[in-house]
Amino acid sequence: TTPDDFAAVDTYLIEKLVPEDAALAETRRSSAETVTPGIDVTPNMGAFLGLLVQITGATRVLEFGTLAGYSSIWMARAMDDDGAVVTLDIDPAAAQVARRNFHAAGVADRVQLRIGPALDSAKALIAEGAGPFDLVFIDADKANNPHYLEASLTLSHPGTVIVIDNVVRSGAVLEDESADPDIHGIRTLMTHIQADQRLSATALQTVGLKGWDGFLLARVN
Ligand code: SAM
Repeated sequence: TTPDDFAAVDTYLIEKLVPEDAALAETRRSSAETVTPGIDVTPNMGAFLGLLVQITGATRVLEFGTLAGYSSIWMARAMDDDGAVVTLDIDPAAAQVARRNFHAAGVADRVQLRIGPALDSAKALIAEGAGPFDLVFIDADKANNPHYLEASLTLSHPGTVIVIDNVVRSGAVLEDESADPDIHGIRTLMTHIQADQRLSATALQTVGLKGWDGFLLARVN
């Protein structure tokens, strides 16, 4: 088995189970107009997030890292009309593209996008008393993951589900002396969660169109 085999199986699973409509396909394409193109979740991960929203009955979702709005749209579409996604991104170009995509996908009325460093936006949400959120998806700059987790805990309630993407990074998570701030952020996050009685957590590795990676799933006790 090679990375190509994993990608081919992903393509098959997506074709069979999670076909995209025009709005989702355009959202993925339009990440080319942002500062960090092509780093949205795969369609099967998008569908997984949507299913999580439905399984948990989440009506308030917080997302760190919007890009072109791909994962936001999957989660927003999984909600009833009274649901809301608050999504945070630092890139104004991404925000402009994402807003366009939210309109095309029919979810503009239930997605609130805040532009700026996500930690500042999260602090503002805390100051506004905006929580609690039922589900949090952390998918922005990995270096800040420990801070995003801490803010998420402040904005959560018992039962809140927290998903953190890209925690394996082709195995680089094992590099304890890595100079990469993203790896440092992920390893610090793991150590925090290990010691944090407020959370029950697991992490699963993934292979496919995005190579070898994985996500962490946690529940606030
Ligand atoms: N969740 C999106 C999806 O699956 O469609 C993908 C998000 S992408 C992996 C990461 C995003 O985080 C980028 O759009 C980038 O602009 C944003 N980002 C990077 N650093 C940030 C920061 N300090 N504050 C907020 N957003 C940041």
